Amino acid sequence: MTVHPNTLSLIGNTPLVRLAGPSEASGAEIFGKCEFMNPGASVKDRAALFIVEDAEEKGLLRPGGTIVEGTAGNTGIGLALVGNAKGYRTIIVMPETQSREKMDTLRALGAELVLVPAAPYSNPGHFVHTSRRLAEETPNAIWANQFDNIANRKAHIVGTAEEIWAQMDGRIDGFTCAAGTGGTLAGVGLGLKQKSEAVTIALTDPYGAALYNYYAHGELKAEGSSVAEGIGQGRITANLEGAPVDTQFRMSDEEGMFWVEKLMGEGLCVGLSTGINVAGAVALGRQLGPGSRVVTILCDTGLRYLSTLYNRDWLVSKGLTPFPWLTD
Ligand code: PMP
Repeated sequence: MTVHPNTLSLIGNTPLVRLAGPSEASGAEIFGKCEFMNPGASVKDRAALFIVEDAEEKGLLRPGGTIVEGTAGNTGIGLALVGNAKGYRTIIVMPETQSREKMDTLRALGAELVLVPAAPYSNPGHFVHTSRRLAEETPNAIWANQFDNIANRKAHIVGTAEEIWAQMDGRIDGFTCAAGTGGTLAGVGLGLKQKSEAVTIALTDPYGAALYNYYAHGELKAEGSSVAEGIGQGRITANLEGAPVDTQFRMSDEEGMFWVEKLMGEGLCVGLSTGINVAGAVALGRQLGPGSRVVTILCDTGLRYLSTLYNRDWLVSKGLTPFPWLTD
């Protein structure tokens, strides 16, 4: 048993678990990286820590400084935790469409929360642009800029990918996940390719995102929509540049919910981006063939979505079929 020297060293080194249902359905061996076991209960703690320490190393963030970021929530939670541990103030700009739990969590952690209406990226009121302006206006502040700051994907090159390679004993045939910033997909992809060019890296895109068409047909074009939080990108972020994507899948919210339900039956409570990732892992396992070994990311805890994904009325309002155990 390891004793950690400080609280920030609790970020990363997450367990990897074999997923029975997805393995059985695909004939492959499907493994999930338990990112919900980070202190902030999501994969974004890793990026938050690397972004903050990168800014410190560059002399951009000094004692008493402020971290400003636009985020769908999980990066903000990670930044607030890291900021608390290091003595920085955190200001988080978030679209008001995100789950109530994320807003309450950010407030509980002491972050200053700025809610803005959901808007297209081209609109100056978009949460990312608002956060950049706020950072410029705030003295001694950095803009974390998770989409285009490649300290984000570095967390996954030197962290997540190394861990996966070691945990799989170098026997891994494929990796897939969805992209928000693309830090996880590109970082794990680049890290695993450094170990072996033979590992297939696949994007699993939700509807409403433009990356599936980009990797399949060379054109950034979105179709349909998704209620999944934290994933779905419309452009090639700096983190996505040069991502070694070999193949791509597109998964609906219904397909994601199918796997969220199956994982609940295995004793895991996860968010919808995890369900979509697992749907992609099953597809990749089928493509790579029986016995192939595929890893995906279990991005965050489902407890973050009690008022949305696990709320009957909310699901009905989105035209989705509630999980059978959710009663009125
Ligand atoms: N799932 C959830 C729930 C997230 O919050 C995020 C982060 N935006 C992702 C997946 C995608 O991670 P990344 O930003 O590394 O692409």
